[in-house]
Amino acid sequence: MKILLATSNKNKVKEIKEFFTEYDVCALGEVLDPFEIDECGTSFKENALIKVRAVHEALKSKNLQSEFFVLSDDSGICVDALSGAPGIFSARFSGAGATDASNREKLASELRALNLDSSSAHYTAAIALKCDLGEFCTHGFMHGTAITQQRGQNGFGYDFMFIPRGFDRTIGELPAAVKFKISHRTKGLALMRILLKNLEKQMRLAKFH
Ligand code: IMP
Repeated sequence: MKILLATSNKNKVKEIKEFFTEYDVCALGEVLDPFEIDECGTSFKENALIKVRAVHEALKSKNLQSEFFVLSDDSGICVDALSGAPGIFSARFSGAGATDASNREKLASELRALNLDSSSAHYTAAIALKCDLGEFCTHGFMHGTAITQQRGQNGFGYDFMFIPRGFDRTIGELPAAVKFKISHRTKGLALMRILLKNLEKQMRLAKFH
């Protein structure tokens, strides 16, 4: 079975492909014409499920749904001093036309407006899966501190402003191999790997009955 990612986010695609080396992982645009998905859920889980359902439907219209595990990632950063913002709005924190850079600026200015140069924070990743056997969702978290300074160049999004617990450098400054070991995405994907192995087993057994 191949995995089709319900995302066009290049950074996520790279990290997920690096994780699932045992699978043939395809980005959305490699299989389907990319299309807009309205992420109107109220949680990371709801949005992750909305994405896999939309892509599974699109596969169905081409009768390709049985060839793929459809997998999505909905993720973001929750900053305690901002009552959990930006949360599910992480990608669009600074409004229409938001970029990673404008979102980081917005986060820094919101903290500065509270006279803070840091706050405890965490990243969340909801990893959803849809296949012939049903829908599933796992979560992973990475706790640490969001700072107003931007340091380093590794990673993407808010990584230059996030110091994981137990470290004194931002993800932007740490080697990519460290993020790969400790990130919210890696933890969510590791749980998903267990599910995938089980689902594959069920599919193999179903073939013999
Ligand atoms: P989504 O594509 O709607 O799930 O939005 C994810 C947004 O959360 C991204 O645009 C980033 O701003 C942020 N984000 C999620 N995961 C990470 C990460 O691993 N590093 C940095 N930012 C992240």
